[in-house]
Amino acid sequence: MLTIFNSLSRKLEPFKPQNPPAVTMYTCGPTVYNFVHIGNLRAYVFYDTLKRLLRSHEYAIKHVMNITDVDDKIIRGSAAEIPNCGLRPAPSERKNQDPNERIKSFSKKYEEAYFEDLKKLNIISADVNPKATEYIPQMVTLIQTLLHKGVAYKSEDGSIYFSIKKFPQYGRLSRLDKKSLRPTERMIKDEYTKDSIQDFALWKAAKEGEPSWETPFGKGRPGWHIECSAMANDLLGETIDIHSGGVDLIFPHHENEIAQSEAATGKPFARYWIHNEHLLVDNQKMSKSLHNFYTLREIEEKGIDPLALRYLFLTVHYRDKLNFTWESLEAARQALTRLRDLVATWDEPAIGCAGYEADFLAAIADDLGTPRGLALLWDLVHDREYPTSARHASILKMDKVLGLRLDSRDEITLSSEEKKLLDDRQQARRVGDFEVSDEIRATLENKGLVIEDTANNGFRLKRKRTER
Ligand SMILES: [Zn+2]
Repeated sequence: MLTIFNSLSRKLEPFKPQNPPAVTMYTCGPTVYNFVHIGNLRAYVFYDTLKRLLRSHEYAIKHVMNITDVDDKIIRGSAAEIPNCGLRPAPSERKNQDPNERIKSFSKKYEEAYFEDLKKLNIISADVNPKATEYIPQMVTLIQTLLHKGVAYKSEDGSIYFSIKKFPQYGRLSRLDKKSLRPTERMIKDEYTKDSIQDFALWKAAKEGEPSWETPFGKGRPGWHIECSAMANDLLGETIDIHSGGVDLIFPHHENEIAQSEAATGKPFARYWIHNEHLLVDNQKMSKSLHNFYTLREIEEKGIDPLALRYLFLTVHYRDKLNFTWESLEAARQALTRLRDLVATWDEPAIGCAGYEADFLAAIADDLGTPRGLALLWDLVHDREYPTSARHASILKMDKVLGLRLDSRDEITLSSEEKKLLDDRQQARRVGDFEVSDEIRATLENKGLVIEDTANNGFRLKRKRTER
């Protein structure tokens, strides 16, 4: 049995998908105008752990995660209006470029960087990563339906808005008091929001120098919210099992997605809304003025394995705020290194410890209780009642949910001295000096590091197995 907190009911609910073992899952992906920050990465690791948990319960998940590649920030970034944006195109590149092409080449680099980050964090790829610019026809169809049903209208400038008063259920997810609604920061910045929190843009009329598409209702570009409704409907159906994202997306984004989708289909949009809490940096919100928008690049520049960040995320429950500090990341790095080094010395995995495995799965199945799961993992690591082969087998099973790459022997952490010796040995092998290479192999073996040579001058490393 799996229970999960549903933001819509504000309750822990048993998880029951519509058509088991199939599970449809939609998660909001990045706006590719910059490198994603560690707050975004927390959400992505949370989605991934949830997916791994569902897989361990034998569900067959179809996961869609969108890429927003047309948006105000991308348009400004591609025109080099955002300072410190990192990968700005050269002025010569921008000149006379078609605006649709310009945002494409601008966002491509960040899209690639985003996929690299996911890989480094051992995040299983979504089944489909639809891009907004590739879903214009589906968005147009959805907008036409909303116009036809009278819940959307065209304004004087040609933009199309969703009329909130035509959708009385508006605010159900975020429990908004509609009378005291205040605009959010994102809305204030978006000139296409009518009357403070009232109506939001489905379609933004074309402007000179901005990307646009021809449609039956005029030239323009999509609003941000409409892409998720159109893609989820097209790829996963009218009602999806899980929709997840960070809590910051509940309002207005997810509220608007519900309004668009449900006004069009008359059916519930998602059965389980699952949200992860904010990430703080040194107990403060991430902000440009505080210069605390960290990315995976900064973590790697400090020589820290990105999976230490994943470990840190798992130590805090997804519905609790996570306070990132460099000290907490260092502690996570040390714990992960210790864990890997220990596991690497153990006997080959065999059989396993059924009691620990069951307790672990129960802890994770209880609203994704990763902190409790990690605690159980460490209890098992230290439990000498079981042979290392059994502990090894169970830890690898647990890692299928945690995703810390504990089973990869090449993840052994090497000291700088060991690295140097390995480099020297490889050099000796390349020039055919087998005497030196054998000598170094013996030295390393004395240090507990066993080398198995493989074809084409390759090799595998193992720590010597000793009972600990
Ligand atoms: Zn979305």
